[in-house]
Amino acid sequence: MMENTQHRVLVIGAGLAGCEAAWQLARRGIAVELHEMKPAKYSPAHTNEAFAELVCSNSLRSDQLENAVGLLKEELRRLGSLILACADETRVPAGGALAVDREGFSRAVTARIRNHPNITVVEREDDSIPDEGEVIVATGPLTSDAMANYLQAFFGEHETLHFYDAAAPLVSFESVDMNHAFFASRYDRGTPDYINCPLSEEEYHAFVQALVSAEEAEVHGFEDKHVFEGCMPVEVMARRGVQTLAYGPLKPRGLIDPNTGKEPYAVVQLRKDNAEGTIYNLVGFQTHLKFPEQRRVFSMIPALRQAQFLRYGKMHRNTYLNSPRLLNRYYQFRAEARISFAGQMTGVEGYVESAASGYVAGMETARRLLGLAPLDLPAETAVGALARYVSNPSVTEFQPMNVNFGIMPPLDHRVRGGKRKKNAELAQRALDVLEPLRTAAEEGVVCG
Ligand SMILES: Cc1cc2nc3c(=O)[nH]c(=O)nc-3n(C[C@H](O)[C@H](O)[C@H](O)COP(=O)(O)OP(=O)(O)OC[C@H]3O[C@@H](n4cnc5c(N)ncnc54)[C@H](O)[C@@H]3O)c2cc1C
Repeated sequence: MMENTQHRVLVIGAGLAGCEAAWQLARRGIAVELHEMKPAKYSPAHTNEAFAELVCSNSLRSDQLENAVGLLKEELRRLGSLILACADETRVPAGGALAVDREGFSRAVTARIRNHPNITVVEREDDSIPDEGEVIVATGPLTSDAMANYLQAFFGEHETLHFYDAAAPLVSFESVDMNHAFFASRYDRGTPDYINCPLSEEEYHAFVQALVSAEEAEVHGFEDKHVFEGCMPVEVMARRGVQTLAYGPLKPRGLIDPNTGKEPYAVVQLRKDNAEGTIYNLVGFQTHLKFPEQRRVFSMIPALRQAQFLRYGKMHRNTYLNSPRLLNRYYQFRAEARISFAGQMTGVEGYVESAASGYVAGMETARRLLGLAPLDLPAETAVGALARYVSNPSVTEFQPMNVNFGIMPPLDHRVRGGKRKKNAELAQRALDVLEPLRTAAEEGVVCG
């Protein structure tokens, strides 16, 4: 029998975390009702009716083990993650990163969820948590107002926090002037997947000048101090100093312009956004400039003079919980174990991190319902470290966090040979710790 009919869980939100949580429950034989407000209602950043929509970049970031997010992905693969399986199936070339065909990825997740016999999808917006029954809330950083207001009342107004996040624009490939651009990957690593748009010193300074003085769209309540450092609008970064972009997203290191045989002064990189290569996104160009200003300023980049903007960048208020006070390391509400949260609303930051929290919330809920002890992934693993970071009650100024090696316990010995070598050892330790737990992690799995 595929379904363990005595157990049912409501999952609210079919994003990266909600789909992963639903999948982990369903494959353990638990009946899931998955509520999603699309297509009747869309958040300001969602546009597609498919599940697990990537609202900005199509990259799930580095796929190298020496990078903590690369390790997180490898752990999730080994743990049977739906999001990683679909990402691997729909990957597009992107050097050392795992980038996906945006729509193909969401279609793949949607098909697996809709076809799973233990999952029933209900299209509706929830405005509360039911008084009874098991629930995982995964309504994301752009949780609808009705649910956000409910959560604020439910927890008390100081327990829901916020910051601002921005998306980057998309341009059509055919509108990029390749006479002023070249394909290459930094230091020729991997295949030459990026389009590189060089700027001379003079062009760079004119561009930065225009950027810092361009008109921004109004975002209610926005202040720069509330911007997430890892996804900072390009104009906010430019205001920090004239050279900030040249050392940041526009750094030319390892990129030789074949027309000059030299590194340009600065380079804007474009990354493929779909498998066909007809759409590219401007890497690191999250922005909240007004749309006509985006066209005016970004068209100063020589290769983008005639660029056709298929989507402009936008900025949004992100809601998250004061998780160190509210949640335990299984992402359960401390006061009521039947209620869990998953995804960016718990204060993990990023697509893969959201999927990781969905994995833990789904898997640990299933284990509890099946009468199994928590798996309790240790802090040496990236999945476990992230869960411990967001639920650590000693954290006072809680900020959303991308996974990183700093949240894992240090090695018990010194490593010679630099940071990369140390990170490689931390990653190997994590995978060694995970290996014997994989059988236990699969306990209760009956399908999928
Ligand atoms: C503008 C912006 C840009 C971002 N860019 C990136 C990026 O480039 N890279 C990156 O790694 N991360 C990025 N993030 C951060 C984050 O990783 C993503 O937002 C990620 O999608 C979060 O996953 P999630 O499952 O928590 O939420 P989501 O993927 O947003 O899923 C939540 C789902 O819940 C639904 N929903 C909301 N309210 C309700 C309700 N009341 N009832 C029913 N359904 C509801 C939504 O429609 C949605 O489908 C960005 C976030 C924002 C807001």
